[in-house]
Amino acid sequence: MQNIYDLVVVGGGPCGIATVVEAKRNGLHNVLLLEKGDNHSQTIRKFYKDNKRVDKEYKGQDSTIHGVVAFEDGTKESTLDFFDKLLDEEKIKAIFNSEVESIKKDGDLLNVTTANATFKAKSVMISIGKMGRPNKPDYKIPPSLNQVINFNLDNCTKGEKVLVVGGGNSAVEYAIELCLYNKTTIAYRRDDFSRVNETNKDALWELEKHKKIKVRLNHDITELENESGRVRVHYSNGKIRVYDRVVYAIGGSSPVDFLQKCQIAMDEKGNPIVDEKYQSNIPSLYIGGDIVLKNGGSIVAALNHAHVVVKDIIAKRG
Ligand SMILES: Cc1cc2nc3c(=O)[nH]c(=O)nc-3n(C[C@H](O)[C@H](O)[C@H](O)COP(=O)(O)OP(=O)(O)OC[C@H]3O[C@@H](n4cnc5c(N)ncnc54)[C@H](O)[C@@H]3O)c2cc1C
Repeated sequence: MQNIYDLVVVGGGPCGIATVVEAKRNGLHNVLLLEKGDNHSQTIRKFYKDNKRVDKEYKGQDSTIHGVVAFEDGTKESTLDFFDKLLDEEKIKAIFNSEVESIKKDGDLLNVTTANATFKAKSVMISIGKMGRPNKPDYKIPPSLNQVINFNLDNCTKGEKVLVVGGGNSAVEYAIELCLYNKTTIAYRRDDFSRVNETNKDALWELEKHKKIKVRLNHDITELENESGRVRVHYSNGKIRVYDRVVYAIGGSSPVDFLQKCQIAMDEKGNPIVDEKYQSNIPSLYIGGDIVLKNGGSIVAALNHAHVVVKDIIAKRG
């Protein structure tokens, strides 16, 4: 007889890990975590710079934790250790390198399908974030420049002239890191870094004051060209500059194709529609974390979604 899980959680980031931990600590023991990457928390691993400060109160969002996962301020490394420990302590059954391709209703159950297997579950939580699809600019990136266009800090080497594009905390943190070893410019199309926390803002303007970094506000890019393997950047104000590398930090998008395949109702912008308990149009199929938030999320928001979902699953079982 095939195992029927109480809960299968798709995506092993903060929301997915919190969901399996909340489930276990509240008496749901037959739970499974499926993660596409070779380890949990791929967004943190791939998009946080090394030694990044991780704030519990992120971008001014509410930092009150309602569930059992007691997350605190730390660094990229301490945050990953924290989630490692949770998975170990709760003896979570997790399968890595296991990308979920679709979820389909099958009577009272849900079938969760990967390339190698189908798992049956009474409830499913989708917590796959948005960084599997980092946002791309709306102008064309010449394919010949692919090696020098980044969406995180992978492959950035010392001594390059780098342009960071974006106006959020990620962009500012990338620029602050890169300027240690590179000639760095950060360009943002608006006139203020209004979404950036005070610590990052202070650090950025201090570096600008000491000419360690160039800050270009009101700089909207209209076109990129290949100039002998370097990136020729055209700004809407008529300026043209050439860089060795361009790093985009402009958020991520909803995985519309996946949601469509699962027949999950979405709004006109491709965001999944959920009720106040994070349940989708498909009964017992919940969606939480960054993927349900229109304007970026936080680790605490992800943990709180997990808490609400598990509480609802348990309440419905009576
Ligand atoms: C650069 C950067 C800095 C940030 N700094 C902070 C901070 O200091 N403090 C803070 O609170 N927040 C911060 N955030 C936001 C925070 O990282 C997110 O809000 C949080 O990671 C969301 O968690 P999640 O579990 O919803 O999604 P994610 O963390 O994105 O995790 C989703 C997981 O699902 C997996 N997955 C995707 N598709 C599939 C699939 N089909 N099948 C199986 N698995 C799949 C992914 O590999 C990934 O591991 C930052 C974000 C970025 C990008």
